Amino acid sequence: MGLGRLVPVSLGLALLFTVLGGAMVYLDSVFEEVPDFLWYVIFALLALVLMIIAIYINITKRIRRIQKRIEESGVDTMQGSSRTMTLDKLEEAIGEWTAKQARVVQELESREEFRREYMGNVSHELKTPIFNIQGYILTLLDGAKDDPKIAARFLKRAAKSVDRMTSLIKDMDVLSKVETGQYDIRLEPVQLNLLIEDTLQGVESYARKNDAKISVDFQVDERIDVLCDSARIEQVLDNLIVNAIKYSDDNKKVKIKVQDLESKVQISIKDNGFGIPEKDLGRIFERFYRVDKARSRDAGGSGLGLSIVKHIIDKHNQTITVTSKDGKGTTFKFTLNKA
Ligand code: ADP
Repeated sequence: MGLGRLVPVSLGLALLFTVLGGAMVYLDSVFEEVPDFLWYVIFALLALVLMIIAIYINITKRIRRIQKRIEESGVDTMQGSSRTMTLDKLEEAIGEWTAKQARVVQELESREEFRREYMGNVSHELKTPIFNIQGYILTLLDGAKDDPKIAARFLKRAAKSVDRMTSLIKDMDVLSKVETGQYDIRLEPVQLNLLIEDTLQGVESYARKNDAKISVDFQVDERIDVLCDSARIEQVLDNLIVNAIKYSDDNKKVKIKVQDLESKVQISIKDNGFGIPEKDLGRIFERFYRVDKARSRDAGGSGLGLSIVKHIIDKHNQTITVTSKDGKGTTFKFTLNKA
């Protein structure tokens, strides 16, 4: 009890005992035949009953106050049952409230951890190209600019670093838009063979430059309609095909297969490349996760491509899986609903 409440409580008790004592003295004089000790017992009992009532009122008020504060945090303390809040219910509500607070703290901690990791990755990814560009510019200023051949070489390298930053920033932009729902997926019937043809046209020059052969095998009617956002699925196919080429050595072969799965179709993209070691398979859809960091960066990869692919497929309520044999090749499979 705080000092501030000690004074009114003491005064209240003094008043109570004075009134009760006065009443007892008065009653003792009226009913003289009643023995004195009985008046003491009655006095003590009355005082006890009045104190119990006061304590009860005080506890009820406090329960109400706690209940109100718990309800303000969004926990329903009554759960549709009777209006009175018993101690059992209060205990239950406090339990629920504590669990809710623990969840909120955990969520905040994991967001903070994610933010820290993401910022660390982004700055790490940007650091290398920026330092490279800085180095090339300083070398040019130091005299390399006077030799046209060397100058051209350094400028080309600087341009490559700029490309790397541009692709990273573009991918980060796409990923954040997909994650925050700014890229809402508009599902419409799309003829699958046309969608694949469009994608192949887009990757044609990259495939030619890398001497890669791409084949398509339809095991369903080619003109089948699927329900999807065509621009986004083109992005998925593009990403998977470019990766299939990027992570393969000579004699690059990419096989696209479309299979029937009753209400769905399954599209697989298979390569004969380096493959992905078993230990990395579960992590390749994570942001910035790379199996061979040097090779990915050298090929201009941002490490975000597969996270974008996974998000797009998730937004379609579909699944994507990967199987791979280290050194033999990799197959990505994803599904789409038939229209
Ligand atoms: P990146 O920009 O590095 O290509 P991705 O998110 O597209 O990023 O891919 C993540 C990592 O997964 C790549 O760095 C690579 O190590 C691995 N990977 C993706 N596709 C393939 C593939 N077809 N074959 C082998 N490794 C792959």
